[in-house]
Amino acid sequence: MNDNQKRILRLKQEHALPQEEWFALFSSWTPDDREFAAVHAKEIAQKKFGNRIYVRGLIEFSNYCKNDCLYCGIRRSNANAERYRLTEDTILECCHAGYQYGFRTFVLQSGEDGAYGPEKLIPLLKKIRQTYPDCAITLSAGEYSYETYQAFFDAGATRYLLRHETADPCHYAKLHPEKMSWEKRIQCLHDLKKAGFQTGCGFMVGSPFQTVEHLVKEMLFIHDFQPEMVGIGPFIPHKDTPFRNEKSGSVELTLFLLSLLRLQQPDLLLPATTALETLEHQGREKGILAGANVIMPNISPDDVRKKYLLYDNKFNGGLKENILDSPLRKQMQKIGYEIVIDRGDHGA
Ligand code: SAM
Repeated sequence: MNDNQKRILRLKQEHALPQEEWFALFSSWTPDDREFAAVHAKEIAQKKFGNRIYVRGLIEFSNYCKNDCLYCGIRRSNANAERYRLTEDTILECCHAGYQYGFRTFVLQSGEDGAYGPEKLIPLLKKIRQTYPDCAITLSAGEYSYETYQAFFDAGATRYLLRHETADPCHYAKLHPEKMSWEKRIQCLHDLKKAGFQTGCGFMVGSPFQTVEHLVKEMLFIHDFQPEMVGIGPFIPHKDTPFRNEKSGSVELTLFLLSLLRLQQPDLLLPATTALETLEHQGREKGILAGANVIMPNISPDDVRKKYLLYDNKFNGGLKENILDSPLRKQMQKIGYEIVIDRGDHGA
C-alpha cells in the first residue's frame, strides 16, 4: 500500500485529514489511488444507504440572472441567452407530473431573478407544501438575507443548495465580478443553516485558476461547515462567457473528490451531477460507483430545458415516465443499485 492509500484509509477511519496530508494527496494521486478511494467510498455509502439511490425532480424555473459570474452561461451580460421564466402554474404542473413519476423531492433552481423574489416564491412554496405534504422542497435561487431564508423555510422549503464555488476568497474574486463577495456567500451558507435548512454547498472541479492549495481548502472548509449536501461537478466552458477558451475540469478528479467527500462525511447527500454526465458517457453511473447517492433528473418542460444552458452541450436528458419504468432505473440496476421513491432526507 502506498502513502496515498494510507492517507485514504486514515480519512476513512478518522473522517478528517490534516492540511499537509491533503496537500500531499492532491499533489501526487494516481488513477490507482482514485480506484482505491472509490472502493472504500462505495463501501461506506453502501453501509449508510444500502444500494438505494435517491432521486430529485429538478425544475429550472428561470434563467434570468442579475449576477455576472464569469463562468456561467446564464450570466447577466450574455445577450445570446434566450431568457425564460416559468409561471407559477407551470411550476405546479411540473410538480404534479413529478409526483406521478415518483419524485418525493422537488428542486426549484433558477438564476438570481429579481422578478422571482420572495413575494412570488413564498406563496409558491406554500402551495407546493400544501399540495405535497409528503415531499421535500429544495430551493436553489441564490443569495438572500437571513430573514428571507427564514421566510422560505417557514413557507415549506426544507433544503437549500448554494454552492460556495471556491473556499478561497482570492480565487472567488477571479471567478466573479467585483460586486460579488465570498464573505457574503459564506454568510449566506451560515444563515441557511441557522434558518433550519438542510444546506448544500459545493464547487466546480477544475474551474479556471484552481490549484492544489484550493482543493485542500475545499476539503477543510467542507469538513468545518458540515453541510448536509455537497454538489460538485466539473467546470465546463460556455462559448458566450469570458472563460470560453478555458479547459474543462477533469472527470477523474471529480470522481476522486466524490470518493474523498464520502469518506470524510459518510452521511452526506452527494449527487452525481449533470455536468459529470455532460463530459462523460455514463458519468452518473461512475459518480455512484465513486460514492455518490443522489441523482437529479430534469423535469422542467421540454421547451425550456435547452435554454438553461450553464455551459456548452449541457446534458439534456430528462424524465417523462414513472421513475420505476425509466431507463434511468435500468441503468442503476445494471450497476447494482435501486432507485427509491422516498424524500431521501439527510440522516433518514
Ligand atoms: N443562482 C443559483 C446559485 O447561484 O446558487 C443557482 C443556479 S447556478 C447557475 C447553479 C450552479 O451552476 C452554480 O453554483 C455553478 O457551480 C454551476 N455552474 C455555472 N456555470 C457552470 C459551468 N460553466 N460549468 C460547471 N458548472 C457551472
